[in-house]
Amino acid sequence: MMNKSPDAIENLIKRLSKLPGMGSRSARRVALHLLSDKDMRLQPLEQALAFARETVDKCSVCGNLDVHDPCAICTNKHKDASKICIVQSVGDIWAMERTGFYDGHYHVLGGVLSALDGITPEKLSISQLLHRLDNAGEIIMALGATVDGQATAHYIAERVRKTHPDIIISRLAYGVPIGGEVEYLDDSTLATAMKSRSHF
Ligand SMILES: [Zn+2]
Repeated sequence: MMNKSPDAIENLIKRLSKLPGMGSRSARRVALHLLSDKDMRLQPLEQALAFARETVDKCSVCGNLDVHDPCAICTNKHKDASKICIVQSVGDIWAMERTGFYDGHYHVLGGVLSALDGITPEKLSISQLLHRLDNAGEIIMALGATVDGQATAHYIAERVRKTHPDIIISRLAYGVPIGGEVEYLDDSTLATAMKSRSHF
């Protein structure tokens, strides 16, 4: 028998409140929602969590999350393996795949370099990237348009040029979103859009 601690509810709320986007108020709401119908709400969630824990893993090639290793993208014959798009997190892969406009492979860095947060190159999957470049023709930097994101892109580009000078290194164009009114762009997006302007 599990110890029936009176703290079970508080414990659940505490766990929930650590999830991204979840404050302590919403954690309480979710806990109440789950506990008020354990059979219909708590148990299916419990099963889904256990199932995900057992079956989902990091792809040993690109770092994507999938039930297969290598993942469905790395083994997809319709994807061009000579293109590798470098992203910060798996969420970026999901976003790119939703657009359906990219037909290459990915590499998840697991973050970006940051002196402030102590994120050194060794803490990112940069050496794994360098080890999978032998058949690559192009790498595409899809890191955020932040100072750290750009510094990371420059660092990787330098490393890649040393070992694989023939690889084309490109990056996403930053600028005015399609359908976006210039007036409503935030200042830094507009400034970057102006700086990276191209011939008309
Ligand atoms: Zn993969």
